Amino acid sequence: MNYVFPPEPQVGVPVVGSDAMFPVRRIYCVGRNYAAHAREMGADERDPPFFFCKPDNCIVVCAPGRAVEVPYPGQTSDYQHEIELVVAIGKGGSNIAAARANEHVFGYAVGLDMTRRDLQSQMKKQGRPWEVGKAFDRSAPIGLIHPASKVGHPTKGALWLQVDGADRQRSDISLLVWSVPETIANLSTLFELQPGDLIYSGTPEGVNAVVRGQTMTGGIDGLGDIVVKVV
Ligand code: MN
Repeated sequence: MNYVFPPEPQVGVPVVGSDAMFPVRRIYCVGRNYAAHAREMGADERDPPFFFCKPDNCIVVCAPGRAVEVPYPGQTSDYQHEIELVVAIGKGGSNIAAARANEHVFGYAVGLDMTRRDLQSQMKKQGRPWEVGKAFDRSAPIGLIHPASKVGHPTKGALWLQVDGADRQRSDISLLVWSVPETIANLSTLFELQPGDLIYSGTPEGVNAVVRGQTMTGGIDGLGDIVVKVV
């Protein structure tokens, strides 16, 4: 196939213990999936899950033990971190039953759903789409993918984010309002999931702004950590 200009290369995320990359298709994100975060955002913690997307090229791969530099984005003065468990889909499907959802998961990773909160808040107030607040360049740092064949399907474990060594977010993935299987079940009624899809499963309380020069370190028990410096 010829193209009028070279197409962008396939976005991939390295897989722990493998030379092969996980090819990224879509990035789905879950809104308000920890009760304490829903409360801090002024929402009802019992709301059903809702979703938004980021383009695949928002991904920034974070190799272990090495700070990845991400430039402070334009048009914001409230650039916030959201540490999240990321689910990597290995087998597609629609209307997936929660009881069988784990069969569709290839693995898990640590991710950051970076957010221009001021722009997101403006869009919410005006009833407009969230893309400018959520789907901007380099807004989805991610660590290496840990295959479920190695780590299983974690349902508990600390997730945390520090800025310059001080705790900002600290919770446990057992506190997800909608579990990973329930999230997959719900999402797959709305979209046909495909291998390569990533699901950022939502962030706990403690979201806050970072500025140039600060370093974010985030992790989840058993899934390693990521280090991102804002430049
Ligand atoms: Mn989020």
